[in-house]
Amino acid sequence: MAISYDRIALIGLGLIAGSMALALKRAGYKGEITGYARTPETRAVAREIGLVDRVCDSAAEAVEDADLVVLCVPVGAMGAVAAEIAPALKSGATVSDVGSVKAAVVDAVAPHLPENIHFVPTHPMAGTEHSGPRAGFAELFDNRWCLIVPAAGSDADAVAAIEAMWQAMGANTEVMEVEHHDLLCAIVSHIPHLIAYTMVGVADDFSRVSEQEVIKFSAAGFRDFTRIAASDPTMWRDVFLNNKEATLEILGRFTEELFALQRAIRTGDGEQLFDYFTHTRAIRRGIIEAGQDTDAPDFGRAKVK
Ligand code: NAP
Repeated sequence: MAISYDRIALIGLGLIAGSMALALKRAGYKGEITGYARTPETRAVAREIGLVDRVCDSAAEAVEDADLVVLCVPVGAMGAVAAEIAPALKSGATVSDVGSVKAAVVDAVAPHLPENIHFVPTHPMAGTEHSGPRAGFAELFDNRWCLIVPAAGSDADAVAAIEAMWQAMGANTEVMEVEHHDLLCAIVSHIPHLIAYTMVGVADDFSRVSEQEVIKFSAAGFRDFTRIAASDPTMWRDVFLNNKEATLEILGRFTEELFALQRAIRTGDGEQLFDYFTHTRAIRRGIIEAGQDTDAPDFGRAKVK
């Protein structure tokens, strides 16, 4: 199924919206893409680099006559943006979003949408630590998952149309329930980010003592943490504030495991450590076999000139 929308509006013009615009163009999308961002600075950059066909000066203007409107703003801003665009939406249009959390977004957005609008939330599981209108690239979604998380009562045709669009942009799609999405993402994305933020914070404390040795001698594991911990602070603040229940649940389990490993180290229980690390190594192999990463050695040198 090809992309069935004649006009697509992207609200928020950062990494994800920019990548969507570029991926749509790469897919040969012939319709019009309009865009809006709240600050004149972002709109000016989007115009300068020709990110979308038409950058509008209000969200209402951008969504006018659009068959699909995608909210690409931080999770905590979704409700206010939905309220702003609601009166200007075309009857029968689909509203979607790309937020990293789903239950809170459904709760914030759905009450604002008129009855004649289809609401189909999505979550592309792809990103980088960069943000803003210059950060996007057409390949971001290639072979990544885009989870389609229909709100209660979503129309089947509207769901199929949005799945087809994400597939045309290079993504694999899977339909998932809201609560399941939020728990899964707490495990595979949200808590790993929190751990990276924490480890970098600990190292920062330490480096005050060791006078920058942490940076000078940073090993691959720590460098990976710093990359993740460089992610956008607004986005990640909103993720934790809006996926509170699931992240606290997984954080509780993480803490229990950490204490168990701490005890194994203290008591010299090498067998427990070895078994644990053998098991986790098998999970890495599973990710590579599923095509979600490559097993090429990565010493972080590729980026070093
Ligand atoms: P981004 O590059 O920082 O862009 C965010 C956009 O939202 C900007 O255009 C910004 O406008 C606008 N915005 C920020 N605060 C706003 C507010 N309070 N009201 C209205 N607009 C506001 O962010 P992104 O990485 O594209 O993320 C967008 C969404 O995608 C988020 O919901 C995030 O959870 C989700 N997501 C992100 C990733 C990732 O790895 N980055 C992956 C999957 C999903 P100005 O520039 O004018 O301030």
